[in-house]
Amino acid sequence: MTVAPQPATLPFMLLVSVIRTRVRLRVEEVKVMTAATHPGPPGGEQPAPVTAADLSPGRPFVFRHATVLTMDDAHHVRHNADVLITGERIAEVGTDLQVPEGTAEIDATGGIVMPGMIDTHRHMWQTAMRGYGADWTLTQYFVWYYLQWGKEFRPQDVYAGNLLSGIEAIEAGVTTTVDWSHGLQTVEHADAAVDALEEVPGRFMLAYGNIQQGPWEWSAAPEFRDFVNRRFSGGNDMLGFQMAFDITGDPAFPEKAAFEVARDLGAPVTTHAGVWGATNDDGIRLMHENGFMTPSSIYVHAATLTRDSYHRIAATGGSASVSTESEQSAGQGYPPTWQLREHSIPVSLSMDTSVWWSGDLFSAMRTTLGADRSREHLEAHGRQETVTHCHLRAEQVVDWATRGGAKALGLDALTGSIEAGKKADLVLIKNDGSPVMFPLLNPYGHVAFQAQRGDVHTVVVNGRVVKYANRLVGVDLAKARHVTEQTVEHLMSKLGPEAWAEGMHPEVPETKVLDNPYTYTEWDAGSAQWKGSTRE
Ligand SMILES: [Zn+2]
Repeated sequence: MTVAPQPATLPFMLLVSVIRTRVRLRVEEVKVMTAATHPGPPGGEQPAPVTAADLSPGRPFVFRHATVLTMDDAHHVRHNADVLITGERIAEVGTDLQVPEGTAEIDATGGIVMPGMIDTHRHMWQTAMRGYGADWTLTQYFVWYYLQWGKEFRPQDVYAGNLLSGIEAIEAGVTTTVDWSHGLQTVEHADAAVDALEEVPGRFMLAYGNIQQGPWEWSAAPEFRDFVNRRFSGGNDMLGFQMAFDITGDPAFPEKAAFEVARDLGAPVTTHAGVWGATNDDGIRLMHENGFMTPSSIYVHAATLTRDSYHRIAATGGSASVSTESEQSAGQGYPPTWQLREHSIPVSLSMDTSVWWSGDLFSAMRTTLGADRSREHLEAHGRQETVTHCHLRAEQVVDWATRGGAKALGLDALTGSIEAGKKADLVLIKNDGSPVMFPLLNPYGHVAFQAQRGDVHTVVVNGRVVKYANRLVGVDLAKARHVTEQTVEHLMSKLGPEAWAEGMHPEVPETKVLDNPYTYTEWDAGSAQWKGSTRE
């Protein structure tokens, strides 16, 4: 059935017609411009798709037709948009960009371009023991690394872990990683850690630590100062420096000396805070009373703290690094985002250690959403209430995984969002062979709940393509495999087969199965009850 337009709808129809005409004209313009700026080979054939070899360092390149999560202040999402990279920086973000002659074009149709992800706490040296501690609790971790076997790691073992971890990070689209390096028993270990970080084309921050000594001891050593001067003097934004140590809560506050060294060096301090059975409110109070809580302080986990400590963190401008996968299974405390939100404490995400978990911030986003919502429902049910609207949104965890990390590390002017002028640290999520890449309706939700590391098509760090078409570019994975095997061999021989097996397979405590009143087997229609039921 058709209905003749009523007089009142005529202006509306005219408007639609004008818009349609304009859209048609715009499409024609795009075709003309595309032909002008990207002339194909003679004969009108399509240009061959870009290969990794076409993306040589220094050559400008552009992502075409992507959904772009800019993560700028307004969280603009651009559809069918282009991102042009020249040198180390993002030159322009927009639609149908004019690009310099010789620019390589990456077809990002159907994909999502987002800022490179940022992990603010990862013990990279432990990656050579990947997966070994999958069934550990925090206590077993402490016993294995701190008391028993951590001191058996040689400098080359720290190197192996860092090399593998660094490669793993960039492969998964994590372009900046804090190496929470608390296995640095000697400066030779520290040099080995930095050697590996410098070999991987990612952005890193060495957070120097040593679990074999008090921080007031190692930070006072002249060779430590010498190391910092030797390796961190050049203003290199690919490699930053922090100090990493925990505060025991001892009223004498021996950590004060280490804080003073950090202040002297201008180094931020990152600390495991609010870890059940290990660090608590006393540490936060001592830091606060002595004036060492600053906006650059990072409180890792921050899970088992009282309101008083959260108020102190919020008031002094520091941030929390939440490692949900870790907190959920090791036992530091419930992943605290539900409390951090209440106190307006900035959040970044982290994976902690690959001796247990993945090095994959997609997992961090997913588990963080799940844990926060789970807690919100649980608390509400305890009050006989129903949550009808979730507070924590997919958009927020994507922010925490990108911009939140940049802010926590003081790198916000450099990275963490897709804006002209910033360093080009980017990820393209695109997988044409996957049924999970379409429809692409809610890009934040897609990143947080649908995508995975296998969908990371292209990774760019500091303007350099380090992964393209799902393959690492210019990275020596064979070398990482070789040095990792040597470390595993070394540790196996140090531990011996028995301790090795015991370490990996901790005893399972006895589980008491509850008596079940419903031990029936067959329904007896005559008596209208289950035969053999013990139920009275
Ligand atoms: Zn940790």
